[in-house]
Amino acid sequence: MRHDANLIADRPTFVTHLECSMTGERYEADRLHGLSRVGRPLLVRYDLDGARAALPRDELARRPADLWKYRELLPVRRTENIVSLGEIATPIIPLDKLARAAGARHLWVKDEGRLPTGSFKARGLVMAIAMAKELGVRTIAMPTNGNAGAAAAAYASRVGIESVVFCPADTPEVNVREIAAQGARVYRVNGYIDDCGKLVGQGAKERGWFDLSTLKEPYRIEGKKTMGLELAEQLGWELPDVIFYPTGGGTGLIGMWKAFAEMEALGWIGRKRPRMIAVQAEGCAPMVRAFEAGERHATRWEDAHTVAMGIRVPQAVGDFLILDAVRESGGVAMAVSDAAIAQAVDDAARQDGLLLCPEGGATLAAWRKALAEGLVSPDETVLLFNCATGLKYPLADQSRTLDKDAPVDFSAL
Ligand SMILES: *Cc1c(COP(=O)(O)O)cnc(C)c1O
Repeated sequence: MRHDANLIADRPTFVTHLECSMTGERYEADRLHGLSRVGRPLLVRYDLDGARAALPRDELARRPADLWKYRELLPVRRTENIVSLGEIATPIIPLDKLARAAGARHLWVKDEGRLPTGSFKARGLVMAIAMAKELGVRTIAMPTNGNAGAAAAAYASRVGIESVVFCPADTPEVNVREIAAQGARVYRVNGYIDDCGKLVGQGAKERGWFDLSTLKEPYRIEGKKTMGLELAEQLGWELPDVIFYPTGGGTGLIGMWKAFAEMEALGWIGRKRPRMIAVQAEGCAPMVRAFEAGERHATRWEDAHTVAMGIRVPQAVGDFLILDAVRESGGVAMAVSDAAIAQAVDDAARQDGLLLCPEGGATLAAWRKALAEGLVSPDETVLLFNCATGLKYPLADQSRTLDKDAPVDFSAL
């Protein structure tokens, strides 16, 4: 079967309108939107009765295993606007040795590193760019810690949209280069991602760029929502007990939470929800601080620092959506140290052969901490998110050299 067979099928779409996530105010579909009038994210709403009639759950098994199989629950109206680089269904991989060593039974990783451009940012950006194309955008701009810019650049180039990307000066080198290699104009900025976001906002005003920042346009959530649909389908419509999600802007956590509600309305799953654990780094933990203080909004985290760049986000416009989902689910927000992250990455690679990115390592470190603190029990089903391929990050050089011209003592190797 061609991987793009889902793109060719002409399927109806069921978007009815958009809605302010804070006030519930209604916005018309099929128009270009940024944030709502009160400066908060817009959520896409669907005619779920119509979708339920058009898409019986069992039909999904007959479609090619990629993100576009959920077309009826996605916002793109016209098939010709769909863009794709092969957004495969990512595998769920057990970490058997690490689980056994901790006396636990089910420890799984959804490995998102296999998506185009090597990270799950592809899910959000493929949708945002398809919608930008549908709504006539010519130039997009965005702030990034690396992976989002790379995905945006790739899809934008593919559909002929110009892209301008701003990243913190200390963004991993490979990210900065891949963004440029995939056709964006990329600028290193002496600041954090939210400082870059301010530049995007100013440029958008002056130059008419469309602002593709996290949650500042409505469609990245819809793309990230497919993680929730996909994992439910993969696990036989039985959600795991606990999900550990490395949380920066929170798009994926918010998107999955939305997916679970939509699937329940469709009759695809029951009422059970996973406890959602928002994982942050000790050097940048605004959600953890707000969670522990019982606040619904998070204040900016000053002097943010962590090796896990994807979650180095000092301030998130969807803070209350993250915190609401975590609380409703009975989960927590928790922070882990960079040392625990490095240890987790090392252990997963050495023992179970899976090279995690630092953000993925953070979820493993958080699971260990949660297990030790009794927040998770050893017989619960646990799903961690590895959001990017470990190959995108600097690896320690652990090799040794050998002189082929000298005698080699093989017993010493
Ligand atoms: C963007 C990113 C995250 C955070 O994802 P959000 O949904 O924005 O919170 C985590 N890990 C990696 C590798 C990322 O690129």
